Amino acid sequence: MVFDYDLFSACVVQSLLESQPTYFRRIALNARRKLLTVLGASLALGGSLMVSQARAQDKGTVGVAMPTKTSTRWVSDGNSMVTALAAKGYKTDLQYADDDIPNQLAQIENMITKGVKALVIASIDGTTLSDALQKAADKGIKIIAYDRLIVGSKNVDYYTTFDNFQVGVLQAQSLEKALGLKQGKGPFNIELFGGSADDNNAFFFYDGAMSVLQPYIDTGKLIVQSKQVGMNKVSTLRWDGAVAQARMDNLLSAYYGDKRVHAVLSPYDGLSIGILSSLKGVGYGSANQPFPYVSGQDAEVPSVKSIIRKEQYSTIFKDTRELAKVTANLVDAVLSGKKPEINDTKTYNNKVKVVPSYLLKPVPVDLSNYKEVLIGSGYIKEEQLK
Ligand code: BGC
Repeated sequence: MVFDYDLFSACVVQSLLESQPTYFRRIALNARRKLLTVLGASLALGGSLMVSQARAQDKGTVGVAMPTKTSTRWVSDGNSMVTALAAKGYKTDLQYADDDIPNQLAQIENMITKGVKALVIASIDGTTLSDALQKAADKGIKIIAYDRLIVGSKNVDYYTTFDNFQVGVLQAQSLEKALGLKQGKGPFNIELFGGSADDNNAFFFYDGAMSVLQPYIDTGKLIVQSKQVGMNKVSTLRWDGAVAQARMDNLLSAYYGDKRVHAVLSPYDGLSIGILSSLKGVGYGSANQPFPYVSGQDAEVPSVKSIIRKEQYSTIFKDTRELAKVTANLVDAVLSGKKPEINDTKTYNNKVKVVPSYLLKPVPVDLSNYKEVLIGSGYIKEEQLK
């Protein structure tokens, strides 16, 4: 015989209801009330989800092209862009190109074909996108250069970034402070590193830094033993830490056999990590051979940890959450036919036109203020630094 569990439970419930009617009716009524509340809440939630989805659909998709995931700053940029655009009612197509130029081009072309309303592009090589951007402009797609300027194209509507010259100034000022150059100390040995020469920013960082360092080089308070000065000699292709490490190895073996290097201008945390590995390799980082002062940029977690260990000396914090917000506001204004907020109409000439820009302020960070600036702002959580 097969036991009919449903029939059995129905009988039990029925007989209980008959023997204890008031008690069980109260339970049944309570259960029904709860069910209705839950149903009501989910209908309301579903309704508002539908509204926000409808809003997102109404406003369309924005293509966000980022260069690489190997640097955490770009991962934060991408995530913040998705959040900031979603808050304005846009869907996003976010792509990372593994620092490969043809890959980024294909991703952008694909976004254009799919009919995005706007493109937000942090380019790998700012000179290689002209044809694709022409196609985009022909379709009425708005183009925003994100953090890195796109050069050689008239089809760049706006540029959002940080004050890149000031980034370089701050990097060099941190070395100036550490060495006591303003107090007349010296002479000191310094080596210079630049960013990727296909990234317009790299020249701004270098020029900003040299505006502070050159006078000391001229008076002999700073000596570049290798004599490698100028972006044509010091740049680092694709911002690659391994390339910087190899160059530092060469500099140390060729010019520092019997000398110490006291400072290294490094424009990006990923390079600073490579440079510090090279220095460790030849015995720097001990009591009688302390590390030189090494600058950086982006406040990436491995570098902040290195600052706490007193290896890297400084970095530059650029709040990518703010950059994303400013960019999302700008995209929304442009697509709604409003005048977007810009604060610079002079600095960024992309060789075809001066691109109207919004510049945010970079903040210097070292051991003395990393807690206040990075943890205090919620950019990095204390647990990440353990
Ligand atoms: C960015 C820097 C970054 C570098 C390497 C530059 O264009 O402005 O923040 O350190 O690229 O990713």
